[in-house]
Formats: sequence, C-alpha cells, structure tokens
Amino acid sequence: MGNVERESGGERRFIADNMLGSLARWLRMMGYDTVYIMEGGDDEIVALSKEQERVILTRDRELTRRKGADSYYVAGTGIGEQLADVASFFRLRFREGEMRCSVCNGLLVVEGKGGAAGLVPEGVLERNEIFRKCSGCGKLYWKGTHWRRIMERIEGVLRG
Ligand SMILES: [Zn+2]
Repeated sequence: MGNVERESGGERRFIADNMLGSLARWLRMMGYDTVYIMEGGDDEIVALSKEQERVILTRDRELTRRKGADSYYVAGTGIGEQLADVASFFRLRFREGEMRCSVCNGLLVVEGKGGAAGLVPEGVLERNEIFRKCSGCGKLYWKGTHWRRIMERIEGVLRG
C-alpha cells in the first residue's frame, strides 16, 4: 500500500517508476502532472519526490518502504487495472482544463484553427474547431477517433 495518506486527488502530482510508463501517459491525459523516470535509481526518485512534493507510484515494494517519501504501491499489471487502482485510491477525476501531453507532461493549451494550420492534415483542420497544443513539445491534439477512445476508457475507469 505504500505510506501515503488517502485524500482527495485534486492537486496531486506524481512520479511513475520505470515499470509504469503507460500509467504515466494516462494520468497526464486525465490532467495530472506526472513525471516518468525511465532511468535512475531509487535515491533519485525519492529525492525528486521530496523536492517536488510528488507521490511515487511504483511496482517496487522496496521503494514503498523508503522513509521520507510519499509512495503508493500500484496493484495490477495491466494498464486498465493500474489506472483503476490509482484513480480510485486518490479519487482522481478527469480534469479537462488541466490535460497534459502524454509524451512530455507539458500542459495543453487550447488553440483555434489558426494555431493548427499547416501542422495537421487538411481534413483534420476542416473537421475540428478546437485543438490543444502542448506547451512543452508542441504536439497537437484534437478530438479524433484516438481521442474518443481515450476518453471512453477514462470514463469507463472512473465509473468503476
Ligand atoms: Zn509535449
């Protein structure tokens, strides 16, 4: 279970360990600031957790026993189970205004057609009025089929 207190997930920020890359991407899309540590030892993760007040999400029981850092042992090996576990424990919700880039964790900012012109296929530009652009890497998001699949999955998880 780790050592973190259960409470409302409103302003929670997370660090996902190297086993939880998919979970990190989904949490970002749900609007939660999540750093993903691909390489680096436990010391580095614990230090970052303290410095940035982030909860460590991990599949490593050793790491959850470390003193001085908030941590949570994520149950399940599949992304569906993991996301459901974390969303339920931290009472997460979908925060549309806080959505983050699944790739780099940058905050997404709303753009009109002007901000997307030349960067997406013509058909996409015609069919969409609103785009979201990553303030970090510049990746563009819009409500296409991929987006809808993501939203359906998030809603499914939050419904339980
Ligand atoms: Zn990005």
